[in-house]
Amino acid sequence: MSSRGQAPAAGFSAAVLQGLAPDGGLYVPVSWPRLAPPDFQGAGDLASVAVRLLAPFVAGDPLAPTLGPVAAEAFNFPAPLVPLEGQGRLSVLELFHGPTAAFKDFGARFLAACFARLRGHGERALTILVATSGDTGGAVAAAFHERPGVEVAVLFPKGLVSPTQQRQLTCWGENVRSLAVRGTFDDCQRLVKQAFLDEELKARSVLSSANSINLGRLLPQCVYYAAASLAVWRAHGERASFIVPSGNLGNALACLWARETGMPIGEVVLAHNANRTVPDFLASGAWEPRPSIATLASAMDVGNPSNMERLRALFPRLEELRTVVSACSVTDEEIRARIRAGYRQFGQIWCPHTATAAQAWERLPQQVRERGRWVLVSTAHPAKFREIVEPLIGRAVPVPEALAKLLARPTQCVEIDADLSALRAALQPESNQ
Ligand SMILES: *Cc1c(COP(=O)(O)O)cnc(C)c1O
Repeated sequence: MSSRGQAPAAGFSAAVLQGLAPDGGLYVPVSWPRLAPPDFQGAGDLASVAVRLLAPFVAGDPLAPTLGPVAAEAFNFPAPLVPLEGQGRLSVLELFHGPTAAFKDFGARFLAACFARLRGHGERALTILVATSGDTGGAVAAAFHERPGVEVAVLFPKGLVSPTQQRQLTCWGENVRSLAVRGTFDDCQRLVKQAFLDEELKARSVLSSANSINLGRLLPQCVYYAAASLAVWRAHGERASFIVPSGNLGNALACLWARETGMPIGEVVLAHNANRTVPDFLASGAWEPRPSIATLASAMDVGNPSNMERLRALFPRLEELRTVVSACSVTDEEIRARIRAGYRQFGQIWCPHTATAAQAWERLPQQVRERGRWVLVSTAHPAKFREIVEPLIGRAVPVPEALAKLLARPTQCVEIDADLSALRAALQPESNQ
């Protein structure tokens, strides 16, 4: 159902194909399954946890019979829980072992696997439009690259993404078009919205989006929280509390949704950078979105997180929200200091987002730290942020093989003006390289 409650309830595949609900709200589950650790007996790897956790959400849906293969395809790389200190009182959940070395690979791959089964029976071609300010576009492009029956167009603001990000957005070809828009990220988002309303484009192909509000990206993110909390529960008989580097709140919401299904999850701390809309809201109760500020943890530079709507649908009362969720804001100076300290203390190399979570843990009162089992969520591999990390730790960051391969590919992209006629022209079938 929609977070605004004004649209008819939709099944899982309808929600995935539509992206946004017709009333402008975000799709959320109508009801929650009641699961417990014994329901996961024998489920060791992420794919088998995924099947048991997600089956109730797709029950009766056209996707239900293919959940097994979808999960096997999406969860084909691990999310290891690495202990740091105190016999596992503190550990790191590494979500960066996928093709583009960030957690968004999980959601993007699950969504691509769903789309491949929902379409691909000789129906009209499907075109997926993504506006990106950095990480999302790369993960989506990687997940859909070379899939038959699907065209992808990635729109990014020309000159406003980092060199590493630009390589990841433009190294594809075949069914993926990379469009450098002469404008800002907001222009890219506006163009995608206009495209959805454009009769000419709609006549050419079925349009869909793969941005982070799609339910098909959010639900699979619950899986690694379920698996990590089950691992802690099996080893220690205690709940795991998570510290989640947060921007648009999708990843943190997935953790809270996993908790809602009955997974052994304790508290959730939202670690924000200098964009403090959410921490301020938790402190004062006033929701005051604002323009975003550029920080070192750039994937979290969000001043008006869209998933707040889902968070408030889950916890309509602020008092209730505060019993489970807390939030803090970390400065760039603290991020730098934490990257240095993480290397010195634990031999860990952290990306700026992960360091934000580590700083949030550092700030917890000692008795709170000692009372629980804490898990720092590591959202990206540090090699994606070498320019920031290497000077701080005084050594080179090893680049994972998959990322190195990707960065070595030739790049191609088309530059367009920030208007609809330019987008239409760029999406002509014959304009593909
Ligand atoms: C997208 C992203 C985040 C923020 O996740 P949200 O779901 O938007 O809160 C954090 N870290 C990295 C590396 C990301 O790519």
